[in-house]
Amino acid sequence: MQLSMQLSMQLRRWLQRGSDLVKRAMPGYCAFCLAPAAKGRGWCACCVEELPWNLRACRQCGEPVAKEQPVCGRCLVDPPAFTATQAGLLYQNSIKALIHDFKFNASPRAGMLLCELMLLTPPSLTGQAFVPVPMHSTNARKRGFNQSYWLAEQLGRALGMPLINAKRIKASRTQRTLNRRERAANLTGAFTFEVPTPEHIVIIDDVVTTGSTGHALARAGLTAGAKRVDIWAVARTPLGKG
Ligand SMILES: [Zn+2]
Ligand SMILES: [Zn+2]
Repeated sequence: MQLSMQLSMQLRRWLQRGSDLVKRAMPGYCAFCLAPAAKGRGWCACCVEELPWNLRACRQCGEPVAKEQPVCGRCLVDPPAFTATQAGLLYQNSIKALIHDFKFNASPRAGMLLCELMLLTPPSLTGQAFVPVPMHSTNARKRGFNQSYWLAEQLGRALGMPLINAKRIKASRTQRTLNRRERAANLTGAFTFEVPTPEHIVIIDDVVTTGSTGHALARAGLTAGAKRVDIWAVARTPLGKG
């Protein structure tokens, strides 16, 4: 999808000003370009169309796939513990900036926009509970808020879905600099459920990078009684960036 010249200039300006703009954006105006928003939305029709939608993705891990195929090669060879991933957007451009603002500046305006965007492409919701990705208490104290929990609460309220909390029992190293294999090893045994889970649970997260967090949490869910675990996230890292 090509951005029109005018829109790309607006987005660039928005990215440069970053969080400021989201904070200043008024209800009734598009968070991306400040034009009047569509009724009851945080954006205008033009901007939402130009967002980096994850249109062709592996049904299981949500990774963008180059050609039409239900499941990617990696999931066929080495399937993760979760069954399906719904991540409607790609973690790039304006979405990356929005998630960054939500996560590191704890902007509720950015968070509400992300929830609204998630609700535009909901997964087939047969799940019986949402499970936010837990943070280890030391990380939670440092950052002051858990973005997955916040999203799960809002979405749970919007859809009438209860929340079940897992516990992070291992403070792992930061995942950002690790590759897929290192991430998986880093997270082995990191989560546990203190109560039995319903048969079908849906993990809520902001960004799915390699799927290793979802895999570790899904394994804990399966051990605690779930028969099926899915993931619903705002965005997936683009192809080859995980
Ligand atoms: Zn707009
Ligand atoms: Zn896959």
